[in-house]
Amino acid sequence: MTEPADTVLVVEDEAPMRRFVRSALATHGFRVVEAGTLAEAEGLATESPPELVLLDLGLPDGDGLDLLTRLREWSQAPVIVLSARGREEDKVKALDAGADDYLTKPFGTSELLARIRVALRHARAQKAPDDPIIAIGPIRIDQARHEVGVDGAQVHLTPIEFKLLVLLARHAGKVLTHRQLLHEVWGPRSTHQTHYLRVHMAALRRKVEADPARPKWLITEAGVGYRLRDS
Ligand code: CA
Repeated sequence: MTEPADTVLVVEDEAPMRRFVRSALATHGFRVVEAGTLAEAEGLATESPPELVLLDLGLPDGDGLDLLTRLREWSQAPVIVLSARGREEDKVKALDAGADDYLTKPFGTSELLARIRVALRHARAQKAPDDPIIAIGPIRIDQARHEVGVDGAQVHLTPIEFKLLVLLARHAGKVLTHRQLLHEVWGPRSTHQTHYLRVHMAALRRKVEADPARPKWLITEAGVGYRLRDS
């Protein structure tokens, strides 16, 4: 028996863009549902909740972020924002509003599919029961014993570094904004202290990366946040 196809809701008002996305997804076994307006999208999402949403921001009846905010009240389905707006503050706004990822137009098919795979894998991992061990590349985190190994050798992390690494690892592949990281690790009153992050991320890289100056795993998303590569 084959698994039922994942449904992807594509919210985009430009027909050529919708066609491009539909054909890319359909050839890779996704079921595609399309909406050209916010109203249509909201109707479709409620009627048959999709596994993933691709969301354009500039829509004829409003801003895609409004849909994202309303969607997040009841749905945890990953949302990847597709937008012509490439500014950092727009990315941050979308991610802080609950988007899982952000693709700036124009983008290629393989990039789109890679981001979708990461987002779906991440959504499934969150539903799965907690595994105390997270293994990513050379990094192995034992959440129960508070131990971290890199290439088989144990490294000693401070409690803050450990929290940061676990947070990034639980969301591997996904960008976490400065605000999200600060909120989770230092608490709601520290969401503007981005220098905390810089300092601790530098320390973490020195312990985890083979070449901390050219990090392979702990990736900076300039002006937005950090991402732990997931493979
Ligand atoms: Ca548009």
